[in-house]
Amino acid sequence: MLTSVDDARRIVMESLPLPLFEECLLGDLQGRVLAADVTAPFPMPRFTNSAMDGFAFRMADAAVGSSYTPVRLPVSLRIPAGSNSAAALPPGSAAEIMTGAPMPDGSDTVVPFENTSGFGASEVEIYRLPKAGANVRHRGEEVAMGQRVLEAGWRISPAEIAVLASFGVESVPVWCRPSVALVVVGDELQRQGGTLTEASIYDSNSHMLRAACRSAGIDPVIVLYAEDDPAAVRKVLATALATADVTVTSGGISTGAYDFVQAELAQLGIEKKFWTVSQKPGKPFYFGCSPGGKAVFALPGNPVSALVCFMEYCVPALMKMQGLTLPAKLQATLDAPFPADRKRYRFLPGVLREEGGRLFCRTTGLMESHMATSFVGANCIIESPPLDTPVPEGETIACSLLPWASLRS
Ligand code: AMP
Ligand code: MG
Repeated sequence: MLTSVDDARRIVMESLPLPLFEECLLGDLQGRVLAADVTAPFPMPRFTNSAMDGFAFRMADAAVGSSYTPVRLPVSLRIPAGSNSAAALPPGSAAEIMTGAPMPDGSDTVVPFENTSGFGASEVEIYRLPKAGANVRHRGEEVAMGQRVLEAGWRISPAEIAVLASFGVESVPVWCRPSVALVVVGDELQRQGGTLTEASIYDSNSHMLRAACRSAGIDPVIVLYAEDDPAAVRKVLATALATADVTVTSGGISTGAYDFVQAELAQLGIEKKFWTVSQKPGKPFYFGCSPGGKAVFALPGNPVSALVCFMEYCVPALMKMQGLTLPAKLQATLDAPFPADRKRYRFLPGVLREEGGRLFCRTTGLMESHMATSFVGANCIIESPPLDTPVPEGETIACSLLPWASLRS
């Protein structure tokens, strides 16, 4: 019995081990996913400081000035950024102050030096008075102490790294990235650089899947190759299972006389959750788990089938294992009819574009599961449940943007 796409998706998600977390240093945080909220250990800014290079003064001392008669104040303090001087500003005077330097007690306003007679003299003339309280950054005005600044589940970018660093945080808990092993099976496969015999082909799936895996934020830890031989297949599967949390295989999972992956997984104690899904392409797709919670995705060898299965099942699983939530499927209007299948859920590479605030899509055209060129130029996968007739142009259909591609306009 074929498993439905919905059941296959659900079974994969329900079978995954709970994500683990680890402490990650600031320098390694880019792209990681926060496992806990972060609250501010102190207010930001931590002390009231000047927003400009200029002069700090009390507005009350300058009330007599106008644009015709500059305010004149003696300069009593010089406060560079980083200065620890807690000196109070003597009444009736001004302090030379640099951007980021603490405001002296008693002062309330900063005039930028461009509107004054300038630095370095014993008194300053203020030519244009700012508003009272201008150019001052007040303690806690950006973030209050104890306020939540970052939330669990956020993917860390340079912006979040800057915030953490500004609070002196050295490391934060992040969800562990599952390790992935790739296993490529097939007698006919030749590596690039090798010589093709009459019936051999170059292995493209290992390279394709490795790149696709990286698009989900994970670099496979190991890539293994095996011929269509039970002992050889078992050996690489055992190595993959011992090495990684997730094993992704390509080829040898169909019903051919030389397809040994499923039998060898069973020998290694992997419990089959499903094999064969009611979908096109990718029917011979297999998913299983070890008692210890390792996941095995066995993808068919045809490149389009392998990529569709990887993007539709493995990527969501890898995201969940990293603590990320899945983006919802997009809804787009068909630019051209979509060839739904009568019996099976249909996935096809497509082109998704935005026009006037609406999404439109169409398939890339010629598509057979063995043709790696089918995906070239695609930026999405379009999908439809089984239907007796094609989905007509103008209808809405579900699709998902490929993580390495961007929306066309
Ligand atoms: P299989 O799933 O092993 O029956 O393979 C199905 C088709 O995919 C066959 O035409 C294989 O030659 C092809 N194929 C299998 N593995 C790869 C691979 N790593 N790279 C490119 N094509 C492959
Ligand atoms: Mg094969």
